[in-house]
Amino acid sequence: TIYRPNDASLSPLSSKTILFAGYGNQARSQALNLRDTFASSPDVSPPRILIANRADSYHETAIADGFSVTGFAEGAKEADVVFLLVPDQVAPALYNSEIGPNLRAGALVVVASGFNVFYKRLEIQDIDVGMVAPRMIGAGVRSRFLEGGGFPCFVSVENNSSGRALEMVLSLALGIGGLTAGAVECSARDETLMDLFAEQAIWPSIIVAFREAYSTLKKLGCSDEALVHELWLSKEPAEVFDKCAEDGFTSQLKYHSTVSQYGQLSTSLGMDVTKLQEFFKKVADRQWADFWRRWLTGTGINLEKRILGGEFTKEFTDIDNEGGGNGIEKKLEELYAAASTSELAAGEKRVRERMGLDKV
Ligand code: NDP
Repeated sequence: TIYRPNDASLSPLSSKTILFAGYGNQARSQALNLRDTFASSPDVSPPRILIANRADSYHETAIADGFSVTGFAEGAKEADVVFLLVPDQVAPALYNSEIGPNLRAGALVVVASGFNVFYKRLEIQDIDVGMVAPRMIGAGVRSRFLEGGGFPCFVSVENNSSGRALEMVLSLALGIGGLTAGAVECSARDETLMDLFAEQAIWPSIIVAFREAYSTLKKLGCSDEALVHELWLSKEPAEVFDKCAEDGFTSQLKYHSTVSQYGQLSTSLGMDVTKLQEFFKKVADRQWADFWRRWLTGTGINLEKRILGGEFTKEFTDIDNEGGGNGIEKKLEELYAAASTSELAAGEKRVRERMGLDKV
C-alpha cells in the first residue's frame, strides 16, 4: 500500500499534545514541519507541541525556534503522542526509564526506525506504537517540505491497543509532510532487515569492490590521480545512481557508451555470484538469529546454542556498554583507523593533498 495525502486527515491530532523526545536531525525538522502544516490549515485547531531535551545546545535551539521545552518524564505524562527521536542506542534506556512508565494508556509512540521495536528493546504495554520513518536525512525532511516536494517515507502500525493507531499514524505522517511523495506501508521488521542488510551487506560489498579495484589498478600502473577521479571524485557514480532513480536501475545504462553497456551487462549477467549469495545469507542470518532466539524462547524451547555467532544487536550493545557507555564511539575510531590503512585511502590522501582539497 502507498498512502497519499488524501488517505489521511489532520483532525485526529486536533488539540492533542505531541511530545518530540530529542531535538536532533529528525526531530527538529519533523517538529517544524508539523507546526507549519497546522499553521497553513487554520480550520483545524493545532496540537500542542512540546520538546523534551537535556539542557544543552539542542535545548536552546528548540527555544529559539519558539517551542516549549520540558523534561522527558514530565512531557510523557502530558503526551497523547511521543515521537521517539533520539539515537537508536540511547532510546531503550531513555524510553524504559523515563518515557514509557509515565505514558497514559492509549498514548501513541512513534519511532523513525524499526530497530528497537523489532528487537523488542522498548517495554511496551497498553499503548499504541507506530513507525513513521523518513527515507531522508533530517535536513532533507525540512528542505523538501519547504520546497513542497515531500520525501519518501515508510509507515506502519506495530501495536494497536486503541484501535485507532493507523488513523493517528497517517495523520502524523501527513502533518510532518511524509505523505506528499507517497508513504510506503512497511513493517518495523522489514525496515530493520533492509536497513541493516544494506549497511552490513550491500555497502560493505561496494566498499570492498572499490578498495580491491583500486589496489588492482594501481598494481597495473594507474596513477592515484587517475584512479581517484575515475572511481569517485568525478561524481560519476552519484550521477549514475541519480539516473537509476529517475529512469530505472537498468534503463539508465542507455546513457553509457555502447562498449560500457555491453561490458556491464554481459559481465554482471555472467559473474559467479555464489560467494556473494553466501555472504548475503550469512549477514541476513545474523539479523535473524536474535529474532529466532526470542521466538524459540517464547515457545519454551531454548536453542541458544544453535544460533549463529555474533548477533548484531548484542554485539553493538555490548560494545556500546564498554567502559561505562559510549563504547561505540571508541570502536568507530578504531574502525576508521583500520579503514584508513588501505591503499585506496593512502592514495586518496595523497591526491587530495596535492589538489588542495580540504577533507579526506
Ligand atoms: P540525532 O543523533 O540527531 O539525535 C540527537 C538527539 O538525541 C538530540 O536531541 C540529543 O540531545 C538526544 N540525545 C542523544 N543522546 C541522548 C541521551 N543519552 N539522553 C537523552 N537525549 C539524548 O538522531 P537522529 O535524528 O539522527 O535519529 C533519530 C531517529 O531517527 C533514530 O531512530 C534514527 O534511526 C531515525 N532516522 C534518522 C535518520 C537520519 O538521517 N538521521 C533518517 C531516518 C530515520 P542532546 O543534546 O542531549 O545530546
